[in-house]
Amino acid sequence: MNENRNFLDAHNARAVWHPMVDPKVMEANPPIIVARGEGVRVFDTTGKPYLDLVAALWNVNVGHGRPELKRAIVEQLDRIAYYSTFNGYSNPPSIELSVLLTEMLAQEKMAKVLFSSGGSDAVETAIKLARQYWKLEGQPERVKIISLKYGYHGVHLGGASANGNPAFRRAYEPLAPGFLQVESPFLYRNPWTQDPDELATICAGDLDREIQFQGADTVAAFIAEPVQGAGGVIVPPATYWPKVREICDRHGVLLISDEVVTGFGRTGSLFGARGWGVAPDIMALAKGINSGYIPLGATIVNERVAGAWRKDHPLAAIMHGYTYSGHPLACAAALACQQIVRDEDLTGNAERVGAYFLERLHWLKDRHAAIGDVRGKGLMLTIECVRDRKSKQPFAPADSYGARLCANGLARGLVVRWQNGKVILSPPLVFSRENVDEAIAGLDAAFAATPL
Ligand code: PMP
Repeated sequence: MNENRNFLDAHNARAVWHPMVDPKVMEANPPIIVARGEGVRVFDTTGKPYLDLVAALWNVNVGHGRPELKRAIVEQLDRIAYYSTFNGYSNPPSIELSVLLTEMLAQEKMAKVLFSSGGSDAVETAIKLARQYWKLEGQPERVKIISLKYGYHGVHLGGASANGNPAFRRAYEPLAPGFLQVESPFLYRNPWTQDPDELATICAGDLDREIQFQGADTVAAFIAEPVQGAGGVIVPPATYWPKVREICDRHGVLLISDEVVTGFGRTGSLFGARGWGVAPDIMALAKGINSGYIPLGATIVNERVAGAWRKDHPLAAIMHGYTYSGHPLACAAALACQQIVRDEDLTGNAERVGAYFLERLHWLKDRHAAIGDVRGKGLMLTIECVRDRKSKQPFAPADSYGARLCANGLARGLVVRWQNGKVILSPPLVFSRENVDEAIAGLDAAFAATPL
């Protein structure tokens, strides 16, 4: 590996295209090249440390450089690096992990796991299995997928079609037909009410009406994140998900929970939907499943859904799957990762430290006019920035407020991620109160150094 800084800087600009950015912007603003990580900290090629306030991409939940994961991966490498799980073959770690996941999700009656390589794959699998389910059930016209505005479901064509943010859609149109978006229960920004229960009723009602308008017999599934992540850490009112479950049940529509971010403890519940007291029919899992040590996604379906595949039907074969479905190294890493999540009660830690973080964010909000709202659940939090608090007017791209704030955070040793007017905070779940204090002090200084 070439660790020469000049080489890396020069060739990154010349040869690498990065996700989620105009290449010209990235060329003009060279990235932090992260060379090493330890716990809640990462180090760039100069050795400068940063507190990782985003766990890379909301995924390195157990922290960087965990020897337990390294050991599990190396032990599996010593046996075999890879073998497929396609027709006729399997491998021990994928079996063991499937058993563990169905046990962890026993109260949701989850029954079968189909592995993949990441979150977009897991979502795509969920959408395709939902459509296949209805064909096996003898209702082939149930094909439509309803999702939420502001929703993020990855970048494949199905997920992008379910996506509720035009930024991820426009350049790739035409997207797939049969995808519809309904109103998201976003308390800070909505035209109706500041009462959470009333908002839940209004937005759940929108889903109900859309299903009736389309004809329930044409709707396969409703997909949503238990807390909308990339859309801006939108925490729904507590009554929203139970209402959604009731509506889906009433219309026979499958409920898909996209738990790519919320799964495995991040929101202070082991799974996001469980935190709302709701059992989905299908769940998309990735990220925290093995904290990103090796790419892995998983789609898990409950007994109701799995039951359809017990029938003899010409379309019952699962003609879907990835070369890396059930990759042994990724599954071995997941087993070690979930052991840590259990042993260190990272779900409880996310709940406790997250509550403290939110309390401190409210303190921060009182000190800086650019902060319009702070919100979150567990260790999934955000600071929504505004040009004007009263009107909630967001910053315009020309203000370059986010870029300036991030630069000021980086200068103070914080990895700060700016997304569409918000500072995303999703640190490793091993974060401590002392880490929160350090983050708040750094953010306080960064905001103070960033004029409107
Ligand atoms: N669903 C959700 C809710 C996500 O947040 C993401 C990624 N941030 C994805 C799907 C896509 O996952 P990946 O980037 O691993 O494909």
